Amino acid sequence: MQAFTFNDGVMHAESVPLPSIAEEFGTPTYVYSRAFIEHQWRNLDDAFGDYPHDIHYAVKANSNIAVLNVLAQLGSGFDIVSAGELYRVLQAGGDASKIVFSGVAKSRSDIEYALNSGVGSLNIESTAELKRINSVALELGKTARIALRVNPDVDPQTHPYISTGLATAKFGISIDAALEVYQLANSMANIQVHGVACHIGSQITTTSPFSDALDRVIDLVERLAEHGIHIKQLDLGGGLGIRYANEQPPTPQAYVAAMLDTLKKRGITLPVAIEPGRYIVGNAGVLLSRVEYLKTNTAGDKTTNFAIIDAGMNDLMRPSLYQAHHNITAVDANSEASSSRLLSHYEVVGPVCESADVLGSNRALAIGAGDLIAIESAGAYSFVMASNYNSRPRTAEVMVDGDCTHLIRARETMAQLIEGESTLPSK
Ligand SMILES: *Cc1c(COP(=O)(O)O)cnc(C)c1O
Repeated sequence: MQAFTFNDGVMHAESVPLPSIAEEFGTPTYVYSRAFIEHQWRNLDDAFGDYPHDIHYAVKANSNIAVLNVLAQLGSGFDIVSAGELYRVLQAGGDASKIVFSGVAKSRSDIEYALNSGVGSLNIESTAELKRINSVALELGKTARIALRVNPDVDPQTHPYISTGLATAKFGISIDAALEVYQLANSMANIQVHGVACHIGSQITTTSPFSDALDRVIDLVERLAEHGIHIKQLDLGGGLGIRYANEQPPTPQAYVAAMLDTLKKRGITLPVAIEPGRYIVGNAGVLLSRVEYLKTNTAGDKTTNFAIIDAGMNDLMRPSLYQAHHNITAVDANSEASSSRLLSHYEVVGPVCESADVLGSNRALAIGAGDLIAIESAGAYSFVMASNYNSRPRTAEVMVDGDCTHLIRARETMAQLIEGESTLPSK
C-alpha cells in the first residue's frame, strides 16, 4: 500500500489532494495517512501468524497523540524512552500494562511514575539502574517487572548514529556480563525477572543482523536456565528499515520469518516482542512545503541553482543530522513549471541561517516559486526532532483518514514561542 499517490497529476494523501491541505492549514505542514499506519502495524502483526507475540510501537519515532491513539485502537503496546512519552501514551488511551520502558538514564521520578502507572516492563540498561529500580519499588511497596537490555555486539550495517548494538555503544549491558546482573536481579525482593531485550540499531535492511542477535540472546537464555533463571519473553527491539530511495528492506514477512526460523532451529517457543518505530510510520508521512524563491549563484564557472523552501532543518533535521536522503517531489504536475517541464537540478534549502540547512542536494525538479513540494518518508524521526531554532514556530501536523482531514497539532503561534520566558525586573 502507498499512502501518497498521484491522481490527475496531483499528489494525494489517501483521497485528499495535498494542495487543499496547504490551503487550509498553510505550509510547512506534516501530513500523515491513518490507513498506512494501520496497514503497516497489521502487516507485522499478521506476519507472526499464531506465534505468541507483542508489538510495542517505538513512540520516539512519532509521538503525536493521534498516532498513538490510532495504534492503541489496534491493540498495540508501546516502547517508551522517557516520562514524557509515558504521559503521551496514557493521554492517548494506551494500555499501561503493554508499555515497555527503555532508556539509559531513568531518574528516580521516572521510575516512580512508571511503577505507579503500572507499566508492563522496565528494560534495564545498567547494574546501577537495576539497584535504583529495586529501591524505588521497595519504597512504593511494588514489584518491578524487568528485562535486561543486553548488547549482543552485532553490527547492523547501518549509519553509525543509529547503530546501537555494538560493544562500544552506550546502550545496554554487555551480553557476557548479563548472567551476573540477572543473578543479582533475581535475588532482589522487589524485582521480577521477566525478559531479555536487545535493540541493535535502526534502518536495518537485511535480516541477518536480527537472526544473529537472536541467536546470541538465545545462548544467554539457555545459560540463564542452567542457573535456574527462567526467561518469559524475548524482546528483539526495533530496527526494520524502510525505503527512502532505492533501499530494498526485507518485507515484514521475511523479517518475522527470519526470527521464527531461528527460534524453531533452537527449539525455543517463548513469546516474542518487537519494537518497530520507523517501519510503522516512516512512509506514512510527508512534509508539505512551498517554494519561496528560486535563485542561481555563480562562482567562477560553477553555477548552483537553489530552491529555497519554507521548511528548514529545524522542521526536519534528518538530512543535516545523518546526511539522510528524503525524496522530494513536486506536488502538482499541472503547475506552470511542471507542465512546461522546466527541469533543473536544485539544492533544496531552508530558511535557517546555517549552511547545513539543506533538505536535498542535486534534485531534478520542475518547480517554480510558489509551487508545493512534498519531502517524502517524513513520518518517523521527523516532527519529533523539530526545534524552534531561529525562532521558527513548529509546523502543523495533519492526519488524513480516507477523505477526512484532521488537524492533530496546530501550528505554533508567536506567543507560544516565548511561553515560559520572562524579562528581568527593571532596575
Ligand atoms: C529507537 C528504538 C526503537 C525503534 O527503532 P526503529 O528503527 O524506529 O524501529 C526500538 N527500541 C528501542 C529501545 C529504541 O531505542
